[in-house]
Amino acid sequence: MTTPSSAPSTLAALVHCACHEQGGGGPFDPLRLRKDFPILTLTVHKDKTLAYLDNAATTQKPASVVCVLCEYYQACNANVHRSLHYLAEQATLRFEEARRKVQRFIGAPSERSVIFTRGTTEGINLVAQAWGRRNLKPNDEVVLTGMEHHSNLVPWQLVAKETGAKLKFVPVLDDGALDLDAYGRLLKGRVRLAAFTHISNVLGTVNPVKQMTAMAHAAGALVLVDAAQSVPNRPVNVADIDCDFLAFSGHKMLGPTGIGVLYGRLEILERMEPFLAGGEMINRVTLEESTWADLPQKFEAGTPHVSGAIGLGVAVDYLQRVGMETIRAYDEHLARSMIARLDAIPGVRVFGRAPERGGAVSFEVEGVHPHDLAQFCDKDGIAIRAGHLCAQPLMQRFGVPAVSRASVYFYNVEEELDRLVQSILKAKAFFHGA
Ligand code: PMP
Repeated sequence: MTTPSSAPSTLAALVHCACHEQGGGGPFDPLRLRKDFPILTLTVHKDKTLAYLDNAATTQKPASVVCVLCEYYQACNANVHRSLHYLAEQATLRFEEARRKVQRFIGAPSERSVIFTRGTTEGINLVAQAWGRRNLKPNDEVVLTGMEHHSNLVPWQLVAKETGAKLKFVPVLDDGALDLDAYGRLLKGRVRLAAFTHISNVLGTVNPVKQMTAMAHAAGALVLVDAAQSVPNRPVNVADIDCDFLAFSGHKMLGPTGIGVLYGRLEILERMEPFLAGGEMINRVTLEESTWADLPQKFEAGTPHVSGAIGLGVAVDYLQRVGMETIRAYDEHLARSMIARLDAIPGVRVFGRAPERGGAVSFEVEGVHPHDLAQFCDKDGIAIRAGHLCAQPLMQRFGVPAVSRASVYFYNVEEELDRLVQSILKAKAFFHGA
């Protein structure tokens, strides 16, 4: 008799899509890779070819990711880790295979240290609630930075309020880099945790996370890295950084929305109590009390986003075929090319000039409100972001209520930057008559 796990997946074969190998082959060529992303061929507002420059908010998805979601629901859908039937076993195998893909992708020592979450926000909240609320005492300190996304600020404000811990902030220098001398001084306090972003979603700054982690460890503090903008953009290896926690989102790296990852150091995760409670995360339950499942299930209460995890695994496959170092270099090249163009326009101010950068470029155009500019661009088919970018303290630091942000990814091309410049010039002329 054939066992379920070795049986050919006939249904899966039926709906198998030929796009699984997308992303690879030959030298890096953004024009070729664009063909893997059906949405990039869209025309919007009747006849404007879409120029998608909002990748720091979310990236587009290659057909291989879109198709695997469809295929999963048509050929594999079942709840994981529970039922003993064929589909449940297939779904569980694929869900856990996705976990191992992510584990290898970020260099995690064990698949047990890879927790599926809804995204970066949930990962950070998990640490804040399950570690912070239990371990922080009055007057303990948590060091954050002045460039954090609200996701890595508000959860700590909540926990500080409850525990009496204090939040300290590394100042941001004028060029958008962190003041590392000040960071060193802050670490002399009663610091229990340093939590910082790897790449700023506003300034594009790449922070020296390995050095900052070593400094925090030397001061006896744990480290959480917000890698929402870095895991999509460059090779990130948790063993090399040596951080204790690292959180990121699938949707910013070609994957589906609603799936993300929290990496945690095993010894710490093992000592932590659960975040959410319910099914899947227990070992034994009586009416009075419960014991917890082993890692990672202890932190994965309820039915997980099975298709999302499988889609994220396919996204990881795609990114690896393109090559993370290739993506890093190209994103940086395009971002610098954009800055050169913006610098050439009178009245445009770019925020963020740190030596190492990712693909997000924020700027203001004198006399044109960021929302008006975003609408102008949109009419030309160009998608950019405008607002406080979930970093209101950083807006206050630079004395602006809002900024415009164009953020590139490896499927963007120089011609799209030229179109952005043309739209900015048009908006300027409209508002200034110049
Ligand atoms: N941190 C950073 C640096 C981000 O850019 C984002 C998303 N803009 C987040 C956290 C939050 O990610 P998510 O909304 O996917 O949880």
